[in-house]
Amino acid sequence: MAKYVYDFTEGNKDLKDLLGGKGANLAEMTNLGLPVPPGFTITSEACRHYLAEGAVPDGLEREVAEHLTAMEKRMGKTLGQADDPLLVSVRSGAKFSMPGMMETVLNIGLNDESVHGLAKQAGGNDRFAWDSYRRLIQMFGKTVLDIDGELFEHALESLKGDRQDTDLGAAELQGLVETFKGIVRDQTGKDFPADPREQMRLAVMAVFDSWNAPRAILYRRQERIPADLGTAVNIVAMVFGNVGNDSGTGVAFTRDPGSGQQGIYGDYLQNAQGEDVVAGIRNTIPLQELERLDKSSYDELLRIMETLENHYRDLCDIEFTIERGKLWMLQTRVGKRTAAAAFCIATQLVDQGLITLDEAVTRVTGDQLAQLMFPRFDSGTEKKKIAKGMNASPGAAVGKVVFSSERAVELAGQGEDVILVRRETNPDDLSGMIAARGILTSRGGKTSHAAVVARGMGKTCVCGAEELEVSIGERRFTAPGDIVVNEGDLISIDGTTGEVFLGEVPVVDSAVVEYFEGREPDDDLVRAVDRIMRRADEVRRLGVRANADTPDDAARARRFGGEGIGLCRTEHMFLGERRQLVEDLVLASGDEERQAALDALEPLQKADFVGIFQAMEGQPVTVRLIDPPLHEFLPDLTDLSVKVATGDATDKDRKLLVAVKRLHEQNPMLGLRGVRLGLVIPGLFAMQVRAIAQAAKEVPGAKPEIMIPLVAAVQELEAVREEAAGILADLGVEALIGTMIETPRAALTAGQVAEAAQFFSFGTNDLTQMTWGFSRDDVEAAFFSRYLELGMFGVSPFETLDRDGVGRLVTIAVEEGRAARPDLKLGICGEHGGDPDSVHFCHQAGLDYVSCSPFRIPVARLEAGRAAFAECDSDTR
Ligand code: PEP
Ligand code: MG
Repeated sequence: MAKYVYDFTEGNKDLKDLLGGKGANLAEMTNLGLPVPPGFTITSEACRHYLAEGAVPDGLEREVAEHLTAMEKRMGKTLGQADDPLLVSVRSGAKFSMPGMMETVLNIGLNDESVHGLAKQAGGNDRFAWDSYRRLIQMFGKTVLDIDGELFEHALESLKGDRQDTDLGAAELQGLVETFKGIVRDQTGKDFPADPREQMRLAVMAVFDSWNAPRAILYRRQERIPADLGTAVNIVAMVFGNVGNDSGTGVAFTRDPGSGQQGIYGDYLQNAQGEDVVAGIRNTIPLQELERLDKSSYDELLRIMETLENHYRDLCDIEFTIERGKLWMLQTRVGKRTAAAAFCIATQLVDQGLITLDEAVTRVTGDQLAQLMFPRFDSGTEKKKIAKGMNASPGAAVGKVVFSSERAVELAGQGEDVILVRRETNPDDLSGMIAARGILTSRGGKTSHAAVVARGMGKTCVCGAEELEVSIGERRFTAPGDIVVNEGDLISIDGTTGEVFLGEVPVVDSAVVEYFEGREPDDDLVRAVDRIMRRADEVRRLGVRANADTPDDAARARRFGGEGIGLCRTEHMFLGERRQLVEDLVLASGDEERQAALDALEPLQKADFVGIFQAMEGQPVTVRLIDPPLHEFLPDLTDLSVKVATGDATDKDRKLLVAVKRLHEQNPMLGLRGVRLGLVIPGLFAMQVRAIAQAAKEVPGAKPEIMIPLVAAVQELEAVREEAAGILADLGVEALIGTMIETPRAALTAGQVAEAAQFFSFGTNDLTQMTWGFSRDDVEAAFFSRYLELGMFGVSPFETLDRDGVGRLVTIAVEEGRAARPDLKLGICGEHGGDPDSVHFCHQAGLDYVSCSPFRIPVARLEAGRAAFAECDSDTR
């Protein structure tokens, strides 16, 4: 029979699929003997059933009741018992952490009777009991009953006035409970449910439902978390941080998630419950100060943090509560960190003997490396610093100030760079945070919502810049020295130092890019990157080449560790001044004129290849013969028509207009392009092949490979191959001749195609276009956002290779191609060659190399190394 509920003593950290991250780790801590309040977890399987069927699975309620009874027995009191109540929290917890995106309800079990029992339990602390009760109604109202949270907050704010929430007395809080109950009655037409078990049942379903809350959907899409996992639900005996000043709650990291440095790192809030820390209700104090307030809890916390690091062999973050001097662990997980910290921590753990260098390679990702290659502010320029906050998430961001998510989304949609400025962010700000280049807040610590979410997204963030007075209503903020910054003004924020500057600060290359460009490692981060990259290079099986079509790009590709050029597109060589020669080619009225145009192009082409072969110093260079429809090189139809109509046209313009009309196609991407051009325009491919061969003769050691685009049938390839092979033989040059596999037919007939090809390179841009029937130039703007919203796919198939469809074609082509020609060389040169997940796919599919833009080469090298560790997923969420 299905089991939907696990006691904390039954689970462990490897059961995240079933118990979610929080549940699995609470179980792990329980089993480690750490002080975790008793509790149990309802599995994500139950959630999936509920979401699919609209009802909880049979047997769940019975199982929950049994576990609750067992917990009641252990605690010696029952849920909501009038004179001495057991209270519980109901907490979401999915497989991947989604900070603040789903729901939690605390203090379940309180009602008009048990509130007195709770006060008695706490030594007659009425204030605490009423505070807990008002929190329950507030959270339950918002989360379970779907009441606008503002209504509760407004009532609380007007009661508080200028005071802190801790200044409210028992009688005032009791009054607030009545007000809150009134809000519930007004908004739902029913009384707040007094039955503790009913409260719990409804809260569990609300947590299930929160999996599909809009902000959770948005976050999953952003973080590429699958939409169908569901969340587990944890039911945990309440411990209270809000009993008095000997109590409190905090969050901590076992080392700095910003830089990776070891040390005590966290925030603490006295006399408060967990949600107060993240919500930034009062300013937290640094965790170190807990030593002064409660030395024994502090010491125990440090011991536990060390135990956790050694056990998980990684940076952990934790949530804890101290109830009247007794420490309780409420959560731990392997903590999110910045990209720089990920590299530094991984190598530190190697040095501490906790992990091997191979494991270190799997602990960092290509996406993190890419983040480290972002530019930073130029230290040499004059800057007007207006504030300093906390360096919550690194990077350099420049943009116009906006004060709301809506405005951020609107301006970003118009192509503007914006910085979202808020007092503090909450989960409703997610869309604005995604749209913004950077986030600046005036409140909250490094563990505030803004900081955690920004770090997770790799977005620049400065938080807690307390010198700033942010007025959302007036859409401006002020900084010391009477500086006023209005919406639309430019600012620059440095997430690495926490500095805020007025105006636009110029940015420069990152130190990691300088390292790839050849500078010796001279700081901890670059040294860490160097160690990990060296190991990744040692273990990877995939080669990494570049898509490059200029000597400059080729040279950069080599510096970045490229091992050849996998795609040299030749069409860019026909632009600029050479357009005129293409025009001559198109307008040629006979063989002679056409040959004259080709003869004029040939030496120019040869010079192009000489430059590239020289830059590659003997590494292979795959030159792809011309691919796009010829009209792309000709003037625009409308421009020509206007010229002719207004009498400004030359004779050539008139002829060109006729040619452009003749060449016009309804679907040019499916028209006269690629190999078809070579077959239709005599001498075109031959000219290119001759230029390649002659260039190769001139550059000692040059290794050309000739690649034919858009082949769909082996016959096409055979025809052009024969001519090319003849030219090579005449000139005494050796070169492989191969083809792109970028039409579904070529993939499906790969066995035949391989008879005529010495190599395949998967052109997954066109292959994706033709497999899905998606115009690669149009669909992303036209309707992909809707498709993403509808969950048709989690990420654009033009970005990450679609394993099920396009990937299947690749696999077929690999198998059948290799069966026909065992030494067939296989690569990929579509954009996917630099995408982490796609690199893992290429490794698994058995390709020989990936080819990507020069800047992505380090990412591809790292991911190819990570892919070599079979158990390593393409991300480390
Ligand atoms: C491809 O289609 O994947 C490819 C690399 O060629 P292009 O992008 O030039 O069409
Ligand atoms: Mg293509």
